[in-house]
Amino acid sequence: MPIRVLPEQVASQIAAGEVVERPSSVVKELVENSIDAGARDVQVETRAGGKRFIRVSDDGDGVPAAEVEIAFHRHATSKLVTAEDLARITTLGFRGEALASIAAVSRVTFVTRSADEPMGTLLRVEGGQVTALQESGRPPGTSVTVEDLFFNVPARRKFLRTERTERRHIDAWLTRYGLAYPGLRVTLSHDGRTVFQSPGNDRLRDVMIAVYGLEVGAAVLQIVPEEPPPEVRVSGFVSPPALHRANRSYITLFVNGRWVQDAGLTYAVIQAYHTLLPSGRYPLAVVMVDLPPADVDVNVHPAKSEVRFRDGDAVFRAVQKAVRRTLLQRSPVPITPSAPPATWPTETSAASQRREQLAHLRPRQSDRQFQFEQRPAVGAPGESVLAAATERLPPLRVVGQIGGTYVVAEGPEGLYLIDQHAAHERVLFERLLAERERAEVVSQALLNPQSVDLSPEAAGMLEEHRETLDSLGFEIEPFGGATVLVRALPALVAEQNSDPLQVLEDVAAALVVGDAPLSGRVEEAVARQVCKRFAIKAGQVMTTAEMEELIRALEGCTNPRTCPHGRPTMIHLSVAQLAREFGR
Ligand code: ADP
Ligand code: MG
Repeated sequence: MPIRVLPEQVASQIAAGEVVERPSSVVKELVENSIDAGARDVQVETRAGGKRFIRVSDDGDGVPAAEVEIAFHRHATSKLVTAEDLARITTLGFRGEALASIAAVSRVTFVTRSADEPMGTLLRVEGGQVTALQESGRPPGTSVTVEDLFFNVPARRKFLRTERTERRHIDAWLTRYGLAYPGLRVTLSHDGRTVFQSPGNDRLRDVMIAVYGLEVGAAVLQIVPEEPPPEVRVSGFVSPPALHRANRSYITLFVNGRWVQDAGLTYAVIQAYHTLLPSGRYPLAVVMVDLPPADVDVNVHPAKSEVRFRDGDAVFRAVQKAVRRTLLQRSPVPITPSAPPATWPTETSAASQRREQLAHLRPRQSDRQFQFEQRPAVGAPGESVLAAATERLPPLRVVGQIGGTYVVAEGPEGLYLIDQHAAHERVLFERLLAERERAEVVSQALLNPQSVDLSPEAAGMLEEHRETLDSLGFEIEPFGGATVLVRALPALVAEQNSDPLQVLEDVAAALVVGDAPLSGRVEEAVARQVCKRFAIKAGQVMTTAEMEELIRALEGCTNPRTCPHGRPTMIHLSVAQLAREFGR
């Protein structure tokens, strides 16, 4: 073929391919635009995993009517004028390519209103062609609707994965932006169901609770800042050594507010845990690195998830030191920096045993440091629940039971009224998760493996999460169609002489989008569901010995005061409160 310049339409589709790979790239670019526009509230709705429909609405600055059309031209941006500006870039966007690229391969409806103007504008672009431009009413802000992604690029459309997979990619981006911008309230819904919402209250710990669940959110340690503030600032939260994961995908990094994939920095975080984690286990971390824009090149990749540092070693050291400093100062179990001798990395059994012991000992003193860390300056609203939830129980004496539902107990600090079902749920939940963390879930093989018929959706869910279920002690395998074969159950479940069908239905229900939308929470959601079913019911009369056993187990819990669903397990009336009530 002779050499020819490509027609504009073809060229723009090819260029679009670099920016828009799949529905989640559209979501990412649109959310970045909302953040750049100063939004405080961003709502994302998708249908069919984003293949049919994506809408991102914000309350940002909006676009003046006169500029709406030009925003869709390639290399049209309000964020950069000269090449030198690149070195000062503080916005997420700067290439001016996203809107043009998205509009080249879908049908876009862009409705926007600048706060300075009385009226909004609606622009519709289909496959790169403007098909409507008119006035339109809306509050200040912007909403971008993207329909029929890749309708005109069949080759691309073919490469899209299942709706579930595309949803997962979208979930991943939304949670990243939720974490990176705790002041931003992001809401995500798939097919009309809200699956994620960040509180937008400026507290990263609260976003982590929304993403990873209360257990993780309560346990993570806030990175200790360096004083005075250095050029390269490191902040965020990291897991204490007792909390770890099977792979490094729980290490999330941001550089100047931008999510980055950087093997070097990921390693810097891991290295800070040197000798503190069992081999093959990785920390969970959300780490923000902030440095002068001139010291980092963000213009490496069209999707902008890679960056290049002027002084990569300095950034590596800053991250590694900040995480290490945090572990040394804030770990619930004290860490002596000189403790691990050089021979430790080759994990002798004596060393790992000792570590196990360390992990179980939770001396009073360090507990208090731990709680102190949980509590920010003055009882800010929302945090008090967290602090209370993580306080351990004093030894209690069982007095009796009320209505077959509540256990009455006495402690040095007064009267405790304990909801037996909620308390037992908490006990089972911590036992199951602790076994999983230590990778020693007690699984009990069924004498006769049982086949169980489920709905296709439930069977699909179980199959998709097989590894997770395995880590919790469920041994199941596909058995043709929507039938699965159950070979083993967690001992905790098997002990209860339960019906495997019921258990698996419960578990599948917990996995359906909406209850466990994000991978980090799947295990917790399953565990919660299992514990809910097997906890002692309200109305069940207990013997004193049974009540004592329950209370002893509750005293051993890390978060004894709430059930896994966040409801209180007990009401505490202090001695002072009692005296006050009786007018003493
Ligand atoms: P870039 O973000 O690199 O500038 P885009 O193609 O993503 O390029 O957007 C082009 C321009 O459109 C932006 O520079 C901005 O001025 C405007 N824009 C896009 N989305 C929004 C939004 N949600 N709110 C306000 N302005 C927007
Ligand atoms: Mg942009």
